[in-house]
Amino acid sequence: MSPKELIGVSACLIGIRCRYDGKCKTEPAVTKYLSKRKFLAVCPEVLGGLDVPRTKAELKGGDGIAVFNGDARVVDRDCIDVTAEFVGGSKVAIDKLEKLGSIRVILKEKSPSCGIHKTYIDGELVPGMGVFAAILKWRGFKLVSDEELAEQQNGEADSE
Ligand code: SF4
Repeated sequence: MSPKELIGVSACLIGIRCRYDGKCKTEPAVTKYLSKRKFLAVCPEVLGGLDVPRTKAELKGGDGIAVFNGDARVVDRDCIDVTAEFVGGSKVAIDKLEKLGSIRVILKEKSPSCGIHKTYIDGELVPGMGVFAAILKWRGFKLVSDEELAEQQNGEADSE
């Protein structure tokens, strides 16, 4: 990887308070990895026009790929359909990353937007991608989760 390459990152992982509950989810492995790299922090839900804090939302009827294909929805706990905000914000975030030449993104696992390997669908944590992750993958980005990065760094520490 070129040292000049710009990495995209879920904003909540680096201390930005953009989660539904108004908090962040800082991951030391991510901040360590980015400490000497260029990066752009994005929150697709905020870029889609949703507030901080906001009502928690989850995938209904399928994962982010199904949402992107029009076969599933994103609905918050007040029964408001926020699918358009999730998809629209993901596209805004991806446009920003593409304009800066980014091809790699670090994402927050389990989120209905950013989850890469697992997310909540119909109230259950199951294998599947969030909406942002699904569209990023479709656009050809390389994705790594905060959990994978932490495991990788733990492995490196164990072998020292
Ligand atoms: S949408 Fe992604 S970046 Fe925004 S709060 Fe959720 S996990 Fe973090």
